[in-house]
Amino acid sequence: MASSKAKTLVIYTGGTFGMKDDGAGLKPVDRFKVSDEFSRIVPLSDMKKPEEIKSRKEIMRRFTTRKQDWNGTVDESPITYDVYEFKRLIDSSLMNQDDWKSIAETIQKYYEDYDGFVVVMGTDTMAYASSALSFMLENLSKPVVFTGAQITIFDAMSDGPENLLCSLIVSTLDIPEVLLCFNKKAFRGNRVVKTDCVGLDAYTSSNMPLLVTLDTRVTLDTRVTQTESLEKQIGTLQVQEMYPEGNEVGLLVIYPGITTEQVKNTIKDLQAVVLLTFGSGNIDGKIVQAMVDEQNNRKRLYINVTQCLKGSVTSSYQASNALKELGAVNCSDITTEAAFTKLSYVLAKEQDFEERKKMMRTSRRGEMSDEDSERENRNSENNQGLSQN
Ligand code: ASP
Repeated sequence: MASSKAKTLVIYTGGTFGMKDDGAGLKPVDRFKVSDEFSRIVPLSDMKKPEEIKSRKEIMRRFTTRKQDWNGTVDESPITYDVYEFKRLIDSSLMNQDDWKSIAETIQKYYEDYDGFVVVMGTDTMAYASSALSFMLENLSKPVVFTGAQITIFDAMSDGPENLLCSLIVSTLDIPEVLLCFNKKAFRGNRVVKTDCVGLDAYTSSNMPLLVTLDTRVTLDTRVTQTESLEKQIGTLQVQEMYPEGNEVGLLVIYPGITTEQVKNTIKDLQAVVLLTFGSGNIDGKIVQAMVDEQNNRKRLYINVTQCLKGSVTSSYQASNALKELGAVNCSDITTEAAFTKLSYVLAKEQDFEERKKMMRTSRRGEMSDEDSERENRNSENNQGLSQN
């Protein structure tokens, strides 16, 4: 457990959580109106009245609440949390790499003052943001928990209060990584996908068990949090920027009947492509030939990711041979969100083409199953001669 007087910073960025319909559809309500509501929506008896923190320039509110120990025993020590509201509150579908950077820099700015962080944002692109932050925050030694709501907190049926409360509890546990907490479950932030745009059980992590379950007991799965080979956390927190917006990283979804022209048009300006292939990594060889024809003597990095929610790219079919010859990197059971954000991170961090491939092939923040990535490493060493030029 973190210190007995856990202190969390809640960073509020917008999303349905604090939206109202003004007649033209849901949009975030004005600044401060939502952080004023935090005291109402965390329904615990010992909550203190919010008080403004005068020593900081940004408007923050401070509340106190109880937390439950993960053993199931009630820990009477309070969780204290401050709320930091972004100046521009937005629907997460408008978010891009700059917004992820602002979130990361806010965490970095207040890193020493808090034991954990909760980021409240829209659900639409939350899995992209939680994946991105998992890579951007280097040497992370505290929990960063993303959450939001499917129903606005201005509605009596809102899931926002429970999601916020659960996230606050998770932010006090000893899990030095980025998580996404929703509907009483906490997932690894780079292993999760939004699979329901209406229901309250909005997220799925098909290839990895939950890190924390918040039911009558708060259960931390120590097998998952302690045995995964996460990068060793040493040194001070650093924010690694992503390849900028309008960048040369893109997705190519393979679908039945896709033409070579469609493939060429999509990839022509890209430096790196996440290929969303069929099943365990399969694709028609003539599509791959279109990629080779479009190379124009430049090195383009291809990542092979399955369209399936569950399972990994294994390249066990002949229909994946052409991709192997192209030198595409198999990314095991990674999600699309994690593959895209990791690729943007790797391109910004490393210049050498072969090193970039190696980084994509290796699990860095527990974003893909080690077993698979180790096998891929071995295969790749055996297939060195086949790489593209
Ligand atoms: N469109 C909203 C958003 O992502 C959806 C939500 O928050 O649930 O900001």
